[in-house]
Amino acid sequence: MEHTVYNWQLKRKMAYKYPETRPKKQVAWVFDTNKCIACQTCTIACKNAWTAGKGQEFMFWNNVETKPWGFYPLGWDLRLLEKLNGQSWSGERYTGKTIFENAPYGEEITGFQPEEDDYQYPNIGEDEISEPVHQGEYIKIPHQPWMFYLARICNHCTHPACLAACTRKSIYKRDDGIVLLDQKRCRGYRECVRACPYKKSFFRAYTGKSEKCIACYPGVEQGLQPQCVINCVGKIRLFGFISQWDKPREDNPIDYLVHIKKIALPLYPQFGLEPNVYYIPPVNVPDEFNRQLFGPGAKQAVAQYKQAAEDIKLIGLLMLLGSTDKIMHSFKVQGTINTGVGYGYDAEGKEVISVPLKESIIIRKPYDEQRDVHRVSIS
Ligand code: SF4
Ligand code: SF4
Repeated sequence: MEHTVYNWQLKRKMAYKYPETRPKKQVAWVFDTNKCIACQTCTIACKNAWTAGKGQEFMFWNNVETKPWGFYPLGWDLRLLEKLNGQSWSGERYTGKTIFENAPYGEEITGFQPEEDDYQYPNIGEDEISEPVHQGEYIKIPHQPWMFYLARICNHCTHPACLAACTRKSIYKRDDGIVLLDQKRCRGYRECVRACPYKKSFFRAYTGKSEKCIACYPGVEQGLQPQCVINCVGKIRLFGFISQWDKPREDNPIDYLVHIKKIALPLYPQFGLEPNVYYIPPVNVPDEFNRQLFGPGAKQAVAQYKQAAEDIKLIGLLMLLGSTDKIMHSFKVQGTINTGVGYGYDAEGKEVISVPLKESIIIRKPYDEQRDVHRVSIS
């Protein structure tokens, strides 16, 4: 690798193929893993929008897998973690090697090429828990065996491995941070597929070219959040623009969760790509597993999430997730925990959404004397 770039998630400089160039804006997502129910509505919304064509049958730009045993494609993260030979952190600083620094002699990036078969079981390991429950054992609270749902899309990385690996220079990063793959330039060498540690660049044999998530840019350009966000049933997702790590804005919803509260963390930051999908880690998972997936801030993020009900601004923002199809550029929360309201604003500062922190519950009488009717559902 010829150049060095700064990676704020590793708190150090690292080797990269190109000089550091940060876009004017950077798209980013926050996913709250604790709210995902694995309904796969996001997966199907994305598939209907972008990958319903010939030769795209096993291509899921968005997928949701059950950790620890779910993988799409098969073993995508374990196979790479083995190649990285262990990772180490010193406080918040990563002291191990990234996929760019660990490359074997003669190669630029540590990666692997999945087989075609590896993509054919996107639901492998679904709902499987971390360890077997033997006959006669009873479930203790909190549960000893655990699992959680990990929703995954392209991370529109700040230092993308797909872009660094492409010998045709077909992959580029726009001014808004979206990473796109130019179909006209691509010759299907699959270097991007091999290099992307998240395996979010895909080869389509039917066209002989590679394809990847486009962050629903036609909608984003109109001020709309992507389809996977708008359609999320669990309201686990938020899309917006993240500020530079040293210039966070208190009223920017993404900055608040990532930079200020540090409750949303990147997935496998140690790979070194500065990914821009940030996860609120699951609360029911062992600390070591969360640390491996989300880095050294995971324990603190879980502790903070458990206290969220006492933090009016944080809970107000979490309530705004999944509440509007518009991109929220800023937000505010007013009132008390019982009467408060969260507000979201567009790029011009116009209010696009307001949500109460607590919805009022109206309980009607089972027997309505005025109408002389009995009600089955009374809430
Ligand atoms: S997640 Fe993979 S495909 Fe997406 S920008 Fe990063 S390296 Fe490229
Ligand atoms: S739509 Fe939302 S809740 Fe359903 S699987 Fe996707 S991320 Fe999870």
